Amino acid sequence: MTNKPIIVIGAGMCGVSTAIWLQRSGFKVILMDKGAPGMGASYGNSGLLAQWAVDPVTSPNLWWDAPKHVFNRNAPLFIKWPYLPKMLPWLYSFMSHASDAGTHRIVRNLIPILSDAVEQHKSLVSGTPLEKWVLDSKLSFVYTSEAAFKKDAYSWKMKALAGLKPTIITGCAVQEEEPILNPEMKCLAVLEGQGHIANPGQYIAELTKYFVGNGGQFIQAEVQEFHKCGNRISYIDTDQGAFECSHVVITAGIWSKDLMKKLELKVPLEAERGYHVIFENPTEMPRNPMLMIEGKFGVNPMDMGLRCAGTVELGDHHAGPSEAPIKLLKRHTKEVFPNLKYSNTKEWMGFRPSTPDSTPLIGELEKSGIFVGFGHQHVGLTAGPVTGRLIAQLINGHVPNIDMTPYKPDRYTV
Ligand SMILES: Cc1cc2nc3c(=O)[nH]c(=O)nc-3n(C[C@H](O)[C@H](O)[C@H](O)COP(=O)(O)OP(=O)(O)OC[C@H]3O[C@@H](n4cnc5c(N)ncnc54)[C@H](O)[C@@H]3O)c2cc1C
Repeated sequence: MTNKPIIVIGAGMCGVSTAIWLQRSGFKVILMDKGAPGMGASYGNSGLLAQWAVDPVTSPNLWWDAPKHVFNRNAPLFIKWPYLPKMLPWLYSFMSHASDAGTHRIVRNLIPILSDAVEQHKSLVSGTPLEKWVLDSKLSFVYTSEAAFKKDAYSWKMKALAGLKPTIITGCAVQEEEPILNPEMKCLAVLEGQGHIANPGQYIAELTKYFVGNGGQFIQAEVQEFHKCGNRISYIDTDQGAFECSHVVITAGIWSKDLMKKLELKVPLEAERGYHVIFENPTEMPRNPMLMIEGKFGVNPMDMGLRCAGTVELGDHHAGPSEAPIKLLKRHTKEVFPNLKYSNTKEWMGFRPSTPDSTPLIGELEKSGIFVGFGHQHVGLTAGPVTGRLIAQLINGHVPNIDMTPYKPDRYTV
């Protein structure tokens, strides 16, 4: 083993998990972030350990749904129009997966990295004071009617490929299960054996502390350049100076796109911008997390209040938040929880790092010592721990027990 450290770039869910699994393998590891740990997309997500999210946004129905949604002010899809021309090649490629065959392919890619996510989080925190963050729960998919549930049959057919079968609750039993819900919500599809995180930002901050407590180093620095000796990584430049390393791991979420450009690699990664609203000091909370199918947002009873998070806004990852998605989230929340009162709200926007085939990039760039673990779109909180474990196995020279071909990091470069 060389004396030089492995540098993990980006302290989100993927980066901190990678740093911990590498540390457990005996490597000297530096975790680096331009900001504080857990302040990127991993900070403000819905906190759902989404083992069930194997069916991608690009289902065949997207061809009908997307045009309807774009021009409907009640639909959870927004576009930053000035950015659209730059995004067209990605969008074209994204839509090319919206077929039955494409969906099956993506479901097959996602099952191995999602299906045991609750166990993967538990094994990350096992035997540490952090066990308290990984909570067992059920998840209710909320529909206005049984007919609306039946209309969603394609998505459930895909979930069935992962062995998921919901219990259906209808009529008045819906409010018995979740008294907070508007009585107009007439159908729940409930999955047992799921999990959630009660404060993702704090979870990652404490994982980083745990890593540092075990001899790891966290450095706040912005990575600017990569330097190789021959084909292999030798050192990196940051705004805090140069750092030698044996390997680097790029787990920088949406900003991985900018870092890959420094390596002269063009990766089709775009931001599906998403929003959350926290309702502080709520008068009521759901018993378990929920997913609102009509409004496409997650609801999680968190320790800082009730968090409602979702919507997709296609746009630039350098631009600030928009008002319309926040307004829509608040309006939809009022509709589903009509009696909810709260002291005030807090709003946030983050960038889901999305590839056209909804499949992350995990692995080594040729034999350069540069590894990547990014592109986890809507499921990076869920799949962070398994991503970290896989990268640690690859750096150790072990063969993972899943086929890594779908995640090949050079699949876009020819
Ligand atoms: C509204 C919303 C709801 C969501 N809900 C869920 C959910 O319920 N479940 C789920 O699994 N996923 C969910 N997601 C998706 C999930 O949040 C992301 O997939 C995940 O957080 C990505 O994690 P990451 O570690 O790849 O990136 P990030 O968390 O974005 O971390 C990247 C880090 O890299 C750092 N960085 C960037 N550039 C540099 C540089 N040059 N030098 C140093 N550091 C750098 C950044 O500062 C940042 O901290 C949701 C996302 C959104 C927006």
